[in-house]
Amino acid sequence: MNANPYPIEIEPVDISAYKEGNTGVPYATTFDSGTPGAHVMVMALTHGNELCGAITLDYLLRHDIRPTQGKLTFGFHNVAAYATFDPNDPIASRFVDEDLNRVWGVDVLDGDRDTLETRRAREMRPLIDTVDLLLDIHSMTNDSPALTLCGPLDKGRDLALALKSPTYVVADAGHAAGTRLRDYGGFGNPAAPQNALLVEAGQHWRADAVTVSMDVTLRFLRQTGAISEDAFQAHIKSDEANLADQKYIKVSGPHTIESDFFSWADDYTGMELIEKAGTVIGRDGARDVVTPYDNCVLIMPNKLKTKGHSAVRFGQLMS
Ligand SMILES: [Zn+2]
Repeated sequence: MNANPYPIEIEPVDISAYKEGNTGVPYATTFDSGTPGAHVMVMALTHGNELCGAITLDYLLRHDIRPTQGKLTFGFHNVAAYATFDPNDPIASRFVDEDLNRVWGVDVLDGDRDTLETRRAREMRPLIDTVDLLLDIHSMTNDSPALTLCGPLDKGRDLALALKSPTYVVADAGHAAGTRLRDYGGFGNPAAPQNALLVEAGQHWRADAVTVSMDVTLRFLRQTGAISEDAFQAHIKSDEANLADQKYIKVSGPHTIESDFFSWADDYTGMELIEKAGTVIGRDGARDVVTPYDNCVLIMPNKLKTKGHSAVRFGQLMS
């Protein structure tokens, strides 16, 4: 048996108390302030092995965080995958049948593909259709700095920058393999008022991912008007004066592995800034893989070097 190569500094929390909820959708709870305002939602566990979101929502629920206006919903997404989490094989519980963050295209939701994840998305969909502002909490395999995936639209960028954290804000169009929750419906429509962010809080099982997840969630809840400044101050741990200036990065595209022999030129973990265009960062079969422009950022370089998969996504540092 292979030893698990990843650090495991955190444990799953028991979320069984949230199963019934009050929305008709298992593991989704809505609090209604009784006054007008946006419907704000924080989602955890879109990937079942990304523990920090579940720990964050459990904390907020236990501390009776309630909306001061509009509605606030807390959701646990791929609970079936989460239930299988095993610290000796922590990658395995990402999903059950397929990636729940690739099934949010209307074609898939309206189609007849029947997997545990399409069933869960269809169950969650009527609730999501009422959400104005969504934060979807994720984490990463690499020990890479935290980042927000704000999507390709200006409204996503503006919301990510308003939160002031995490440092890196990455604009990307999602994945050819299927639509993310972050890009579903009005979230991905430039003319619609809905808005969504996906935060990658750090390495999946580092304690720091929980710190970042909690921090960004509280900032999101304050920014969207869901919680008061007093509630924010009662729980926030970071000092705003110490936050680094945010960096805004536009993803241009991936390098898709073309051969059976791919190797990296260095031990990249993500967010490395490569100053000169044409710098060799890897080798794919008989050819060098080079950075396409000056000030190129390596987004989530993949340790698994499988033909046909993305080795890395290139991003251009804009500010
Ligand atoms: Zn994820």
